Amino acid sequence: MDQPVAFVSHGAPTLALDAEDPTHRFLRGFGATLGARAGRPRGIVCISAHWDTETPAITAAESPATIHDFHGFPQALYAQRYPAPGSPPLALRVRELLAEADHDAHLDLRRGLDHGAWVPLMLMHPAADVPVVQLSVQSGSDGAHHLALGRALAPLSAEGVLVLGSGGATHPLAEALRVDWSASAGPTEPWTAAFDAWLLERVEAGDEAALADWTAAPQARRNHPTPEHFLPLLVAAGAAAGARGRRVHDGWAYHLLSMAAFRWH
Ligand code: ZN
Repeated sequence: MDQPVAFVSHGAPTLALDAEDPTHRFLRGFGATLGARAGRPRGIVCISAHWDTETPAITAAESPATIHDFHGFPQALYAQRYPAPGSPPLALRVRELLAEADHDAHLDLRRGLDHGAWVPLMLMHPAADVPVVQLSVQSGSDGAHHLALGRALAPLSAEGVLVLGSGGATHPLAEALRVDWSASAGPTEPWTAAFDAWLLERVEAGDEAALADWTAAPQARRNHPTPEHFLPLLVAAGAAAGARGRRVHDGWAYHLLSMAAFRWH
């Protein structure tokens, strides 16, 4: 059976340690949920918001290191390691599929796994026994480009590979850091809720045209002052090849960051 395609919002890196957080708890079960019908994936291609390059790049190390690409967090977070193997053959397959769709991608033999990949994966697959390859995003390119990258990867599902986007359904980070977090739970601003609702509707409709033109969505720029946390969702939607998706988790971090997760198939 084909592997599903998924997108998760990863929030702050402390999500890895905060066992009481609802998204942490969701991710703890999500690996098994995704594998319930299709079985354990043969490999995972993770598209993380935290690897942004001018042209597509693919990790090809045999044993990718754990990258602690954040500052000012508790020491325990820097001690985390996610020792999943890489997979040079899967990296080559990703490059081949992208090339067939006229996207040149290069293999990066040195790059490890950034926290956009390892934070959700250490919860979803704590045994770290499924090989992981990362594919970068290109914040200088538009929504259609990222849907096309995803579409090129669509054959991977039938090859037993899970395509996993990791970013943020909304990500107005600077504004979120200014909010009084003690005030209440849930979105405090209609402009975050409006974008989140638009996204749910378009994903459920399998509306690739609207997703490609996502900067025209309600309050898109305010929710994503920079696009990198949204682009992994577009790659995932593309990899689902126009299928209707569904939301499998929702919630808010720091009031303004939607922690929504989606799956297709
Ligand atoms: Zn992030």
